[in-house]
Amino acid sequence: MGMGRSVAAAPLHEAPPQLGGAPPGRVGLQAGDEVRAWVHVLGQAPVDVADADRVDLIGALERLKSAAAAMQARLAAAMADEHVARASGERARTQAVRSVAGQVGLARRVSPSRAMTFVGLARLLSHDLPETLVALAAGEISEWQAVLVGREAAVLSSADRAALDAALAPRLGPLGDRGVAQEARRLVDRVDPGAVARRVRRAEADRCVTVRSAPGPAGCAMARLTATLPVAQAVAVYAGLRAHAEAQRNQHGDQRGIGQLMSDELVARLTARPGAAGSGTAVGRVQVEVGLVMSERSLLRGGADPAVLTDDRGRTYGHVPAFLARRLVRDADRAWLTRLYAAPGSGQLVTMDARRRAFSGRLRRLVVWRDQTCRMPWCEAPVRHADHVRAHAAGGATALANAAGLCEACNYVKESDGWRAGVVAAQGHVIEFTTPTGHRYRSQPPPAPGHHPRSLDEHVELLAGDWDDECDVGRGGAA
Ligand SMILES: [Zn+2]
Repeated sequence: MGMGRSVAAAPLHEAPPQLGGAPPGRVGLQAGDEVRAWVHVLGQAPVDVADADRVDLIGALERLKSAAAAMQARLAAAMADEHVARASGERARTQAVRSVAGQVGLARRVSPSRAMTFVGLARLLSHDLPETLVALAAGEISEWQAVLVGREAAVLSSADRAALDAALAPRLGPLGDRGVAQEARRLVDRVDPGAVARRVRRAEADRCVTVRSAPGPAGCAMARLTATLPVAQAVAVYAGLRAHAEAQRNQHGDQRGIGQLMSDELVARLTARPGAAGSGTAVGRVQVEVGLVMSERSLLRGGADPAVLTDDRGRTYGHVPAFLARRLVRDADRAWLTRLYAAPGSGQLVTMDARRRAFSGRLRRLVVWRDQTCRMPWCEAPVRHADHVRAHAAGGATALANAAGLCEACNYVKESDGWRAGVVAAQGHVIEFTTPTGHRYRSQPPPAPGHHPRSLDEHVELLAGDWDDECDVGRGGAA
């Protein structure tokens, strides 16, 4: 929910012609107004025209998308450069880029981490890859192709990037995505033979393990655990699991499929417990703590409200169907769970906690459960901080009503100079973020588990009255 405001005036090397009569070399308020007018025109334009015109227009719009991306890059780079130039010290410069990326991310409706990548690319294009930027502005390459060039160029020195840019730009037009990446890499290796080794080191430094919901209908029950590893390690892990699975089948007559045996063994080894072997259920007994937030109706009375799955740090992993949640409770060695919305309470805990300085324990978990992902619009990262919306130093209470779940990056951004936040509507817990340029964005938590849409005030009351119902659930049952 962005508030309509134009982009700030930014000096540019070259302005496209016919931008609302803006003087050459500057794009001002008129440009923003005119772009908004185009958006309106495109939303209304008729499509009952000849095929030749349709194809022409599709082509022209593709170039417009590229030109828009180039303009966004130039604006973002100019903004970041100015704020970096004004900052003194490495720490202040990093913070300046974070703040600019936060604002650009909100304007582009993407997460802060994607915005950081975009601002980095924008500065790379503006400083070191001017010909590539020109190709983008002219609609000769797509934004994604500019990203591909930027990725390859990132391992080079500034001077070598200029050499790459000059050699590569004239060849880009006819190439597809893969061709652009291959040609860029070939030229990088020619410009700087040491680049290969640096690329490998960078890639190895980026090794990681991530988890996210499986795509499609399986997403409510399955998740994808992805390990991005040095190639030899990845092959070794895979071969080890496969050899184990084949041995199980061939020597021990295990009837499970190779894929099932491999995944069960992966879980068994990493959680230090036997996997699903012999349990007769697809759900293994995990030793680590997995939390389930579900209504008691779903837990005890066969209700259908989905549950929210959390890990031992309170990060949430989306909704799981009620029957699956009941099975997890039954099969897990230990799971704590909290009855939500079971009985109305007094709200006393929220008041009681108001003198505390930090969100901790159950109150922190409550913030994480309510918000589920970072409250910065379009961020969607897991919550890492339960943050005071109104700072504690400024009299803000340590209470659910004054709390926002934020990710690490957004917490930094929100603390930057010129950023403000406030709860503008208690009903629905609407938080408004105001950026240094005065743009405002609002955010609301997702609907909570439970079958009745209730006001947040009712939720808070119900939750607050429910503290003593948190319980450990043994292996055999759920009560
Ligand atoms: Zn965030």
